[in-house]
Amino acid sequence: MKVTIDQDKCVASGQCVTAAAEVFDQRDEDGIVVLLNANPPVELAADVRQAAVVCPALAITVDE
Ligand code: SF4
Repeated sequence: MKVTIDQDKCVASGQCVTAAAEVFDQRDEDGIVVLLNANPPVELAADVRQAAVVCPALAITVDE
């Protein structure tokens, strides 16, 4: 699994962090998403897919 984010699209809603805190974080200053792990382990795959689904800005791309 390979994860990419588009910080220009992110609206800092934080849904991704709620879904997968091991993979996503938010910048302290403005809440924009930060990718912690672009190649998460299989145990986190479902959480990462969920994060991509709930992101209101469609800023998360998951390639299986
Ligand atoms: S869920 Fe989407 S819009 Fe919200 S912080 Fe994460 S990447 Fe940004």
